[in-house]
Amino acid sequence: MYIALDSKGNIVNVLELSVEKGQEYFCPHCKKSLLYKKGRKIQSHFAHKKKLSCSYNSYKSESKEHLLTKKDFYDHFKRIYSDVKLEYIFKADDNLQIADIYLVDKNIAFEYQRSIISSSQIKERTIGYEKAGIKLIWLIDLNKFVKEFKFYNNIAYIRYAAFVENFLNYHKGCVFFYGYDLENKQLVFYQIWPNRLKKRHAVAIKQVCKLENFRLPLNFKFSKKNLISKIDRSHIENYLYVQLKFDKTVKNKVLSLFYNSRIALNDIPEIIGIPSVEDLLVKTPIFMWQTKVYKMYKENRTYVEILKYMYTYMELVDSIYLSDKIKAKIIEKLVKKYYIELVKI
Ligand SMILES: [Zn+2]
Repeated sequence: MYIALDSKGNIVNVLELSVEKGQEYFCPHCKKSLLYKKGRKIQSHFAHKKKLSCSYNSYKSESKEHLLTKKDFYDHFKRIYSDVKLEYIFKADDNLQIADIYLVDKNIAFEYQRSIISSSQIKERTIGYEKAGIKLIWLIDLNKFVKEFKFYNNIAYIRYAAFVENFLNYHKGCVFFYGYDLENKQLVFYQIWPNRLKKRHAVAIKQVCKLENFRLPLNFKFSKKNLISKIDRSHIENYLYVQLKFDKTVKNKVLSLFYNSRIALNDIPEIIGIPSVEDLLVKTPIFMWQTKVYKMYKENRTYVEILKYMYTYMELVDSIYLSDKIKAKIIEKLVKKYYIELVKI
């Protein structure tokens, strides 16, 4: 942390003022006494005397990456905007929250996220900003949460951590997320499509913006391309093999669903396994829900009945950007599209 209170309660910013030796400094959140760490190799900063002792989550144990990113963003924005606050403390109801960076003129705050926190903590913090009337941009650490396998022609093959699902965004039929690549000091925007049936694997169009060129608003553009890969029978067989490897009993959900639908595992209809970009937002495996719709359709259930059932059957990722209304729309879109395919055969 860079901001502390002195014994008189004044705010001290280590990046702006030289800190006096012998003075005592306090955490703005938990009010505990802090250590001043003046470094040659590391950026000077404040830290709690005991790890995990702070009442504020981000200050429990702060990584050097977090410190470095905050400084880089602060230095960058100060060159462009007149009023930039570092570790800005604000009130959301009765709680104190701290924005890594707050641009006063734009009323926009940044949260750089490197440690894994729970979905409820992410939501709670997001709501705090809403209550305070501050626009928030979450920047997740891409070096930590995204692995790129291949990259050419601006197309990347990636795998992302489950944590990223909290930040998957959906707009005009496009699925995307963005974050900060600390190693290359750039913001990266990934528009993604499912990569066959591999969980949290995606084909992505990647756009980057160097921190030094970063201005608001973010203006990444959606691509109209469709990079969805077709699912062929061998992918289905591999997928099922993995699903059935550890549990071949009737308790296995996939197995029992196929059994109840009277579908032989070596003779799965071509109609099961039709991919959509929205699959990335659905936790329920494509096989499960499509087999279920297929079964209900064969039983002459109406579209309305099927849709109603699927609202509770299909589980979507728990992203801060997906309201219940948007989730319902996604389910409707997928079921409708699939139902039309079923009618065609
Ligand atoms: Zn503290």
